[in-house]
Amino acid sequence: MQSQSKKLFSLRKLIFMLVLVLSFGTTKIKAQLQCGMTTADQLYLQPDDRPMIGPRSAKTYIPIQFHLFADDDGTGALDVGTVLNELKAINEIYDTVGFYFYLANGGDIPTISNTALTGGPSGYDEIIDAIRNDIALNVFISKDLFVSSGRQVAGYYTSAKDFVAMDASYINDGETLAHELGHFFSLPHTFFGWEDEPYDLAKHGNPVTITQAPSYGVPVELVNKTNCTKAGDKICDTPPDYNFGAARSGCTYNTVIKDPNGEVIPIMENNYMSYFANCSDFQFTEGQHNAMRNNFALPSRNYLRYDYVPLMDTISELVTLLSPTTNQKIETYNYVTLEWLPVTNATRYYIEITDGRELTKAIASGTSYTFTTLKANKSYIVKIRPYSEGFTDTKNRITTFRTGNLMTATTEITGANRYLKVVPNPVQNGNNIKIEVDAGGNGDHLVEVFNMMGQLLSSKSVNLDYGKNTILLNDIKTQAGVHFVRIRGNKHDLTQKFIIAD
Ligand SMILES: [Zn+2]
Repeated sequence: MQSQSKKLFSLRKLIFMLVLVLSFGTTKIKAQLQCGMTTADQLYLQPDDRPMIGPRSAKTYIPIQFHLFADDDGTGALDVGTVLNELKAINEIYDTVGFYFYLANGGDIPTISNTALTGGPSGYDEIIDAIRNDIALNVFISKDLFVSSGRQVAGYYTSAKDFVAMDASYINDGETLAHELGHFFSLPHTFFGWEDEPYDLAKHGNPVTITQAPSYGVPVELVNKTNCTKAGDKICDTPPDYNFGAARSGCTYNTVIKDPNGEVIPIMENNYMSYFANCSDFQFTEGQHNAMRNNFALPSRNYLRYDYVPLMDTISELVTLLSPTTNQKIETYNYVTLEWLPVTNATRYYIEITDGRELTKAIASGTSYTFTTLKANKSYIVKIRPYSEGFTDTKNRITTFRTGNLMTATTEITGANRYLKVVPNPVQNGNNIKIEVDAGGNGDHLVEVFNMMGQLLSSKSVNLDYGKNTILLNDIKTQAGVHFVRIRGNKHDLTQKFIIAD
């Protein structure tokens, strides 16, 4: 299923697909948007017939797959550093639930360059089906987010497609994502039934005079808990909420409101599933904890349950760069390799390079990464941040270097019969990769294989003879999908796309 996604990508940047250019450091300020969870979807989530499971014991580890949507030219995607911070934030929030989210795919966070998706996944089921990770909780992040009705929202969960979508501006302190993940794990709003018509003194009275909430015939929840299994979110330790938080930007509600029995409602502003915002002490109740754990125990969640404990060891060091050194001038600009010492417990490194105008981003799985899109005679700031699938509370190393104006010489293979190809193509995963090169000269060359993320999977020195050469590569451990082979040396610098099939 991962391989199907590849056709969606623009291939023109070849191996450096994930190297994206983005205007640097812009954070959009948006009006407070609400959740796009539909009432119908919440009916679907109503916690009838929940299996009862015991209290939490050990931590539950849940793979989460973030997908970042960018414009066709690769700009506009949320930066990975913000995602790493968000993961830390939601893990702190979900600690009381007993859930721990870890990055799927070893920590790779793909960017999908497709302008159609920058308004969110709604209406693009086919694309989403192709790129989703079927063994992880999928979170799609776009720069704006619209539901099918056209309404702009901060985030939503869809039960039909079973994923969470988020507006990138609401990825910050975990607050909105925690709410949407609550929906994912079956929690309705605490004010279920009042989404479309929040409490209004003139209309509903005080004490409230209606006994059915405005939507879906849900009973108006009573303070005395006599109808708490049928009203609102059907979770009894969340007090009645008639959507008191609607259109409020703060965390307080000063009016005393009485339920239809005349009892004062102990309004719980700081519930994650309310519409109050910016509470310093947001929480889920114990009843909500149980509902989420029960949801996780359902057969429909089998695809998220594994006997796997992620790598979670603390990463405390900063990256130490070997090259470039601080303020070093690199003579060339079109082939700049960053190298660093391995950081204890880190398995991924997120890199940003900017000249102040354009931002280039990449995720490396090893301890070096080569950039080919930098400009001549520029001062660059580099940020590089280690992390692992289960530990993202890490910091950037920030350093600087300069580029010169020399180009690394690249000589294309020319002539009618010259070629570089992989045969057969596609090649079966696990088989040797057979490369045929018709070389225009002889000498030492480096043969490298990269995946779509630009990660180096294999590197081998070969001596090419003039004319036809055959190179066999084995032991390349990878997933099915688009790959690139690059052969470079003093005579050639050639890159060719090929497919590894399941
Ligand atoms: Zn919601």
